[in-house]
Amino acid sequence: MTKPSPSRPGLSKSRITAFEQCPRRLWLMVHRPDLARQDSGAEARFATGHDVGALACALHPGGVMIEPEGGLDAALAETAWLIAERHPGPLFEATFQHDGVLVRADILEREGRNGWRLAEVKSSTGPKDYHLGDLATQVWVLREAGVSLTSAAIRHIDTGFVLAREGDYAGLFADADLLDEASVLAQNRPKVVAAARAVLAGEEPVREMGDHCASPFACEFAAWCSRAAPVGPDWPVTILPNGGGKKWAAQGVADLLALDEAQLSPKHARVLAATRDDRPFHDAMGARAAMAGWARPLAFLDFETINPAVPRWLGTRPYQQVPFQFSLHLEGAGGAMAHHEFLSVDGSDPRRPCAEALIAAIPPEATIVAYNAAFEKRVLRELARDLPDLARPLLAMEARTVDLLPVAREHWYHRDQRGSWSIKAVLPTLSALGYEGLEVKDGGSAQEAWLEAADPACAADRRWALAEQLKAYCALDTLAMVAVMRGLAGEG
Ligand code: SF4
Repeated sequence: MTKPSPSRPGLSKSRITAFEQCPRRLWLMVHRPDLARQDSGAEARFATGHDVGALACALHPGGVMIEPEGGLDAALAETAWLIAERHPGPLFEATFQHDGVLVRADILEREGRNGWRLAEVKSSTGPKDYHLGDLATQVWVLREAGVSLTSAAIRHIDTGFVLAREGDYAGLFADADLLDEASVLAQNRPKVVAAARAVLAGEEPVREMGDHCASPFACEFAAWCSRAAPVGPDWPVTILPNGGGKKWAAQGVADLLALDEAQLSPKHARVLAATRDDRPFHDAMGARAAMAGWARPLAFLDFETINPAVPRWLGTRPYQQVPFQFSLHLEGAGGAMAHHEFLSVDGSDPRRPCAEALIAAIPPEATIVAYNAAFEKRVLRELARDLPDLARPLLAMEARTVDLLPVAREHWYHRDQRGSWSIKAVLPTLSALGYEGLEVKDGGSAQEAWLEAADPACAADRRWALAEQLKAYCALDTLAMVAVMRGLAGEG
């Protein structure tokens, strides 16, 4: 067994994965970890991964956890002893090392007298391409350590699972056995490891930024690598929506203003003209025509949802979007707006009270207006599925839901949108409203706030403060729709 030394930094499956994404990323991880800047969702992703991993182990109550606290040598020795003694398993975090490459196998399950099934637990809903390299590194190290593998699987979330009994998560996971594919890839691990070591022994590698900086992971060193990048044009061609800018960028065009409208589709030509002339494109008549069929009163609706990988409430599925909040601006006589809202932060199942509050607040003849309505429609359909006694009014609401986003897309563009028609991009171009100053300012931070508030350990005054932040955010989302609709119609 070759041990790593300070002059020969150790490798792990995650470091090798980093190397396969970008050699410079591995070098920075090892030599300049102080330069890493995690994105705002990193903590939530880590927490999800931790919860899913813990649950996968909990489904095997007789398993043995190889604790890392005693140090690497102790973990390696305990693992070797359990394997040699033909422990019935399963083993969690079984620890192996070969050629200075350390792996901790999520779950090893005994098969027959000498075989082991390896399971790498992931919170994804299926295997991804980059999982294979991860698995191949483990297959290589485990086999070199003398472990006889009968399968090597990505143990992922099964989206068909429904939580039918409190705490019963049997069936939450499904295995995708990739032993054959991983075995083929395992053959090149010595070369990959040697190449990674060569990179670590040298200076910081030169690598231009590109698509690889975001795939398979958003690189935590993007700020460092982009610090010396040349300043681009004020209006980069990549502003063009629907990937239209990428095509021009690939042809060496960096500046949107270097293009001619005749080269572009009508929508892209509008973006170019509005940008170049600093004059918004506005087809108010077209917008009014598009919205003319929306029967009054109008009910502007927005949901905030939580979608845990591990279902929290009976009858829910992995990653189901469960609404814990809605805001509703309801148009009354003369265009006056009444505000209604629902928010549940006590951690109980919010679906029924949310659905009942919706039904009570929205008149049966109202047209429901949402921005990017596919999301609200889906939430309504899933509420109807889960609450059969309320299905009729909920499905009727879904049928009466219309979408403001395509109206904005077709009939308005201001260059400050920089190629985006998200409500946060459109709102300040059509009204004086904006999201600055809010503590909860997007769906991700709303989920974080809800998770903190719904935690039983959250203090009452903190929970109250979080609830107020959530209410302010969601109310602005529906008020924003009112403002955008009026602006599109030229009534601003
Ligand atoms: S930002 Fe891009 S180029 Fe820089 S280390 Fe990360 S992946 Fe490599």
